[in-house]
Amino acid sequence: MSTTRGQLVVISGPSGVGKSTILRRLLARLPHLIPSVSATTRPPRAGERDGVDYHFIPLEEFERRRKAGDFLECCQVYGRQHWYGTLVDEVAPRLAAGDWVVLEIDVEGTLSILQKFPDALTIFVEPERPEQLDERLRGRGTESPEAMARRLEVALRELAEAHRYRHRVVNARLDDAVDQIAEILRQAGLPEAAAT
Ligand code: 5GP
Repeated sequence: MSTTRGQLVVISGPSGVGKSTILRRLLARLPHLIPSVSATTRPPRAGERDGVDYHFIPLEEFERRRKAGDFLECCQVYGRQHWYGTLVDEVAPRLAAGDWVVLEIDVEGTLSILQKFPDALTIFVEPERPEQLDERLRGRGTESPEAMARRLEVALRELAEAHRYRHRVVNARLDDAVDQIAEILRQAGLPEAAAT
C-alpha cells in the first residue's frame, strides 16, 4: 500500500461487548474520527439503515466486488452465509486526505488489515467477565437461539485473540471505556475537536 497521511484505527471485540455503543459515543465526541461503513450480505436488523450502519448488498454483488478487488479485506464472519468487508473506497480516499478512519471489524479482518497497514492502531474491547456476553446477547433478543449460540462461540474464540491488539480496553463501565479509547487516540495524535 502506498504511503498515507491519515491513520487507520481498528476496533474489535466479541459480539455483545458493547463496541457499537462505544463507537457511537466516540464518533459523537471526536469529529476527526470517521467511520468506514462496511458492506455485508446479512439482512438489515430493525432500525438499521443502508449506507449508514452497513452497505447491505446481495451475495452476487458482494462476490462481484470481491473479484474486482473492491475490498481491503473481507470474510465470512460467522462461517455461514453472511459476508462482511471493508471497501477500499471507504478508506483510501480519506486516509489520503489525512483523516482518521475507524473500522469496526472482526479479528480475521484485523489480521488482513495489519498485513497492509502494519501501523494501524488496533484496539480490542473486552467484557469484564466472559459470561456478560451471553447476558447481553440474550438481552438483545434479535436472533434465534442457534444464531446466538454461534455468536457466543465465535465471541469466546475472539476473546482468545485479544493479545494480537496493541491496546485492550475492558468495558466495565461504558463512560470509562469511551474515555480510555479517546485517550488512546489522543495520545496517538488524533486532532482534538476545535474549542467552542
Ligand atoms: P453484526 O452482524 O453484529 O453487525 O457484526 C458482526 C461482526 O462482523 C462484528 O464482529 C463486526 O466487527 C464484524 N464486521 C463488521 N463489518 C466488518 C468488515 O467489514 N470486515 C470484517 N472482517 N468484519 C466485519
